[in-house]
Amino acid sequence: PPDVVTFGETMAALRARGALRLGGSLGLSVAGAESNVAIGLARLGHRVRWAGRVGADELGALVLRTLRAENIDTGHAVTDDTGRPTGLLLTEPRLGTLTRVSYYRAGSAGSAVSPADVLPALAPGTRVLHLTGITPALGPSAADAALTAAATAHESGITVCLDVNYRSRLWSADQARTALRPMLAHVDLLIASEDELPLVLERPAADEPEAVDSIVSAGVREVVVKRGAHGATSFTADGASDCAARQVDAVDLVGAGDAFVAGYLSGLLDGADIPARLRRAVTTAAFAVATRGDWEGLPTRDELSLFDQPDGTTIR
Ligand code: ATP
Repeated sequence: PPDVVTFGETMAALRARGALRLGGSLGLSVAGAESNVAIGLARLGHRVRWAGRVGADELGALVLRTLRAENIDTGHAVTDDTGRPTGLLLTEPRLGTLTRVSYYRAGSAGSAVSPADVLPALAPGTRVLHLTGITPALGPSAADAALTAAATAHESGITVCLDVNYRSRLWSADQARTALRPMLAHVDLLIASEDELPLVLERPAADEPEAVDSIVSAGVREVVVKRGAHGATSFTADGASDCAARQVDAVDLVGAGDAFVAGYLSGLLDGADIPARLRRAVTTAAFAVATRGDWEGLPTRDELSLFDQPDGTTIR
């Protein structure tokens, strides 16, 4: 069985070198929050299965080929036979590390993922199911897939991880709260940015500790708060553990959160304690921040120690 099962929409990504409206050449790759996490975990040597739906088109073939090349099991991925296309996004660097993303994903195959597509992927013996709050935003059938998979996995003792990953272009904060709150009962590990915590609260909290308390009392065992360049904090019933970010020259921030989740789950799968999980998470995130692309720069297990080498080292 796989160590980790994940699903969500993975799209073709066209990357411009400057402003899109000026034209020019684009680089073609793939992007998706869950598949970024899957690649991060697979590079660290974990067995990962990605489920989800792609179009019966060349971009769908690109998505599956890329994931297979990263040692991810795509045997449960579904190819849409009703003419829905693989989704697409375009990115353009605008100011330093500020990137603009345009999406062409409405009506896509990925957004039509259903419970029947993903439930067979949850093999007995799977240790972690990783979901993001993007999937329930894609449509009613995708929302059903995320909720049903979380409930089924939780019932069979699989650790359920949810990264809130709020996308304001897909839904409002109120819509997100309505969909995400019922998922919490099935979530063991919740990962969120500081500003995303209010999205999973029934009513506003006075401060972060109060927000975390209310999430823990909804049944979540562990809450991890990401703080960008300030690092991250993990909260459990036993207390809080802080970890500073690694100092790197930021080149491309997209994918930092997904890389962080991959490192965190890798530590958890290895049986590491919370401080060590956080250290691995900020390390994999630093690789994402210091390299171009959402997942291309993620480290293999051997490469994790590169951060302990002095800057400017040549490895021969
Ligand atoms: P994303 O843009 O992928 O959605 P996010 O908002 O989910 O990101 P962040 O809190 O921005 O997540 O970043 C996740 C982690 O990445 C941080 O906890 C930190 O470890 C690392 N990170 C982010 N920005 C920097 C930075 N400038 N320098 C070093 N590490 C960083």
